[in-house]
Amino acid sequence: MEDTCGKCGTSLAPAKILYDEYGGVICEKCLEAAEEALTNQIRSAGTLKTVAYSGLGGGILAFLFNPYWLLTVVTVACGVYVFKSLGDTDKAARLGRPGEKLKKAAILGMALGGMAGVVQLLRMMGKLAG
Ligand SMILES: [Zn+2]
Repeated sequence: MEDTCGKCGTSLAPAKILYDEYGGVICEKCLEAAEEALTNQIRSAGTLKTVAYSGLGGGILAFLFNPYWLLTVVTVACGVYVFKSLGDTDKAARLGRPGEKLKKAAILGMALGGMAGVVQLLRMMGKLAG
């Protein structure tokens, strides 16, 4: 029995019929494209992890060294990036529990970076007053 690819609509001979992860009929070309997309997604999940933990590390470092609130800005930017990426429900679903961990790291990084910024501001104000 001949079938057509669910993605591009090409008719497929029985020997050419493949199935995607949801059990739909798919041709070889579309399956390869889907696998590549998945690989990219996993790779970007790795980037997300790096960004989340850089934000966290930056937040801790900001207490020691925070020139011009640079680290405060960086940690908040990292946190926003992580949340934006995880807001993509498809990606969040794929990441599952590790995604929750990344969210926590992002929150902690932003909180630390923000706190370090406030502490620095208070220190500066104290300097100005004194
Ligand atoms: Zn196809």
